[in-house]
Amino acid sequence: MDSAEYERKIAFRFAAFDQDGNGYIDRADFSAAAARLLSEFGTPARCDKGQALYTGAEALWQGMAGIADVDGDQRVTREEFVGGAVKRLRDNPERFAEIARPFLRAALAVADRDDEGAASVPGVERALRVLGASPETAGLAARSLDTDQDGRIIEDGVVAAFATYFTVIEPDA
Ligand code: CA
Ligand code: CA
Repeated sequence: MDSAEYERKIAFRFAAFDQDGNGYIDRADFSAAAARLLSEFGTPARCDKGQALYTGAEALWQGMAGIADVDGDQRVTREEFVGGAVKRLRDNPERFAEIARPFLRAALAVADRDDEGAASVPGVERALRVLGASPETAGLAARSLDTDQDGRIIEDGVVAAFATYFTVIEPDA
């Protein structure tokens, strides 16, 4: 993989967290992501699902800051993201998975509007689009998360895919 391709892949991952696109990742990006998801699925912030999502978003931010905010200014720059979240976590993707799990669990619960106990493929696709994925990427990702193709997406698969996406940067197949 040449450095331009690597940079492009990093830029996509950074942009996924930089929800407001201001060039750095901070707490506001995580609360914005939570607010967008709640609004998309018509879930009030003041309910168990809403509170769990905000709590998970805060935990994910704290975890990312602990790993990547090297200078402690409560902002993760692209440089810090590459050096911290990508490089340091590559050796320990399980750590990132556990940091992200409460948020991902809560997001899946929000996407599971009819409380069937698992989010559907279209529900997850919608959630990914709200968080900034292109329609094509969101569709592909949601379908690939349904590994046994029963139409439902479970937490462990999402957590593993999340950790892999942000810690393993590989050339296009
Ligand atoms: Ca931002
Ligand atoms: Ca920083």
